[in-house]
Amino acid sequence: MRPGPYLPVFHDLRGARVLVVGAGRVAARRIAALLSHGADVTVVARALASPVRLLVAEGKVRRAPGPFVPGLLDGVNLVFAATSDRAANAAVSREARRRNIPVNAADAPDDCSFILPAVTEGDGFVLAVSTEGKNPGAARAIREFLDDRRAEIAVRLERGRRRPALRARGGRVYIVGAGPGDPDLLTVKALGLLRSADVVIHDYLVPDEILSLRSSRARTLCYARKGGTAGHGSALKQNAIHEAMVRLAREGRSVVRLKSGDPLVFGRGGEEAEFLARAGIPFEIVPGITAAVGCAAAARVPLTHRDLASSVTFVAGHESDGKAASAVDWNRLPSGGTVAVYMGVSRIRGVARGLAKAGLPPQTPFVIVENGTRGGERIVRGTLAGLPEAVENAGVRSPAVLFVGKAAAAAIVRGAKEESEDGPVAESV
Ligand code: SAH
Repeated sequence: MRPGPYLPVFHDLRGARVLVVGAGRVAARRIAALLSHGADVTVVARALASPVRLLVAEGKVRRAPGPFVPGLLDGVNLVFAATSDRAANAAVSREARRRNIPVNAADAPDDCSFILPAVTEGDGFVLAVSTEGKNPGAARAIREFLDDRRAEIAVRLERGRRRPALRARGGRVYIVGAGPGDPDLLTVKALGLLRSADVVIHDYLVPDEILSLRSSRARTLCYARKGGTAGHGSALKQNAIHEAMVRLAREGRSVVRLKSGDPLVFGRGGEEAEFLARAGIPFEIVPGITAAVGCAAAARVPLTHRDLASSVTFVAGHESDGKAASAVDWNRLPSGGTVAVYMGVSRIRGVARGLAKAGLPPQTPFVIVENGTRGGERIVRGTLAGLPEAVENAGVRSPAVLFVGKAAAAAIVRGAKEESEDGPVAESV
């Protein structure tokens, strides 16, 4: 890439004398921006559009008498030619350049000695984007892209503030929990490791917003197939993950094995750690917010509650294709607590039977949180009697966590707006 002629700079405008030629829509926008940065603005124009007229009347902007004459450039630090007449703007630009005064002419890069970027601002940062005047539409599109990623930018900014950096070390594997999906729910440690690792081996459930926080030179690998949340982790794929971790660490790379939620909750993190230990690869386990905890917060379900639930049990509705429907001994679930079922929606009838077997009455409330804390979050409520139908009617898909128990209908969720419209909302809440 060859550098273009423009040096990006941030100009301190406090007290700068700025002449704006023209007083229409474009000029009004420029004037507003200039004033917000503390410039001392003079406008020259035959007629003033009402926003500019108001500013002049309020004494915020000076108006030079008459039409533009070169003498108005005396002592000026910056010029904006913003009339609707290109030839007039070009004439202003010529005069300004003759006096070595930086000038910007609206929509005419050739008449500019400086150009304006597309800007997006947030708490503590300003991002300026330019295509060097060639394609303002593209610059705006990039700005919109950045606007959509404010949350992620804020996370990075916060991380930057908290230096010294936490860095992944070469020859080592970090088995890291990525949390349920919202990048803001990453731990500081997870973020530091993600930003510095050479390779990221991730589950398909880890969203792009989180993956994009990795270093730009980091490689990503994903062995899982999209679509299901269980069963696809066949022995073959799991072996491929184990082997990749060992090989890359032996090559001296820093490896982040990024797993959704917490690595040790239904995530095979334990198997991966055992394999690394046997292979003599140093590793570290970094916890994450597990789906049940993230989803409970999203749906405001108190997992325990002094009056309603004194225990919470994490249950796998379905563990792997190789295993019988569920290895859970439903008869032994603690009574009167909250049950959080992972990987349950694809086998909802079996799960409902299991819960009935556990002795839970048909009127026990449930809450399902689909895509908790990530895009497409949805909440469906009802009672056990109607559970399979509710899942089918609402078309609930994986990933989802099912909460069952009295606490699932606790008061703090009452009146929540984000509930599924088509779910059996009113039934029990
Ligand atoms: N280690 C992960 C669980 C992996 S098993 C953790 O601790 O969360 C995959 C299951 O997790 C899914 O079938 C679903 O039940 C649950 N899950 C993961 N992310 C989820 C999310 N954002 N919303 C709802 N359920 C999720």
